[in-house]
Amino acid sequence: MPRLAPSSGSRGGLLRDGSPRGAAGGSAAGGVATSGVPAALRAIGVRPSRRLGQNFLIDPRVAERIAALVEDPKEPVIEIGPGLGALTMLLAATGRELTAVELDLRLAEALETRLAPRPGARVVRGDILEQRAEDLVSGPATVVANLPYSITTPALEWIVRQGGRIRRAVLMVQREYAQRLSAKPGGKEHGSITVFLQLHAEVRVLFRVSPGAFHPRPEVDSVVLELMPRPYPGTTAEERASVEHLARAGMGTRRKTLANALARALGMEGAVVRAWLAAAGVESERRGETLSVDEWIALSKWKPSGPVAG
Ligand code: SAM
Repeated sequence: MPRLAPSSGSRGGLLRDGSPRGAAGGSAAGGVATSGVPAALRAIGVRPSRRLGQNFLIDPRVAERIAALVEDPKEPVIEIGPGLGALTMLLAATGRELTAVELDLRLAEALETRLAPRPGARVVRGDILEQRAEDLVSGPATVVANLPYSITTPALEWIVRQGGRIRRAVLMVQREYAQRLSAKPGGKEHGSITVFLQLHAEVRVLFRVSPGAFHPRPEVDSVVLELMPRPYPGTTAEERASVEHLARAGMGTRRKTLANALARALGMEGAVVRAWLAAAGVESERRGETLSVDEWIALSKWKPSGPVAG
């Protein structure tokens, strides 16, 4: 979750990739939900909550740019955390099937009223993490979200665990978080979430969004990324579960060597772990953060008692 700075009251978040900035423009559908956000929140008695990651989009051009990434009007969309509807109203304008899941009941109610003229769109009140994609939409869907940063990791896990129901996701996340997702082994940003995501998806950063695009204004930059769920080539579901478990164990204690971290987390003898690492061709003095996905897969295959259960 971003730390919030006092709202400057300024509008027009600038995009640092050279996109134009300035006065609010755009379609009526987007403008309705991005203009007058503080007043709209006051009208329904909502004070932005850090716990719920409530940083609302106020730059219509950012909203339009995100909505334009979902080109096919026949593709069902699941939106996580629609808030006041900055993205929802644009996405629903095509008449497509859209289910927006909102945890804050006051926002859900206000959005429902706004979406009433759009029969293809509906609001589900509740926690996205407790839903099943197959109950939300009729077929393979695109997920769209200005993610509540407080649930970024569980939301990514939710997306890739929907059994093929999610074809693609277009997500706004903190820039630093996105850097962790694509970090190379060895860097300080590389961690178990990096390995997890590489096992389950391709990720591509599309563009950067500055704090001025939100109310309240966060202290950090954000990026919009595209995530395409897919299994890591050549692996079974059991292997992927085993690698997830091992990577968490091997990177749980950052300053430990891989051998010590695994021995401790898995309750194994140090000598047994060192022999295992040697068999897999991995030096036991290395740290977990330096291993590539392929090396974690090799470790999982060579584990003495067979693959580790997930
Ligand atoms: N989409 C809106 C926008 O761009 O202006 C709001 C985005 S705001 C960053 C995150 C939204 O997610 C808020 O409306 C918040 O209430 C909602 N939210 C937080 N946790 C949630 C959860 N677990 N499930 C569904 N919605 C959630």
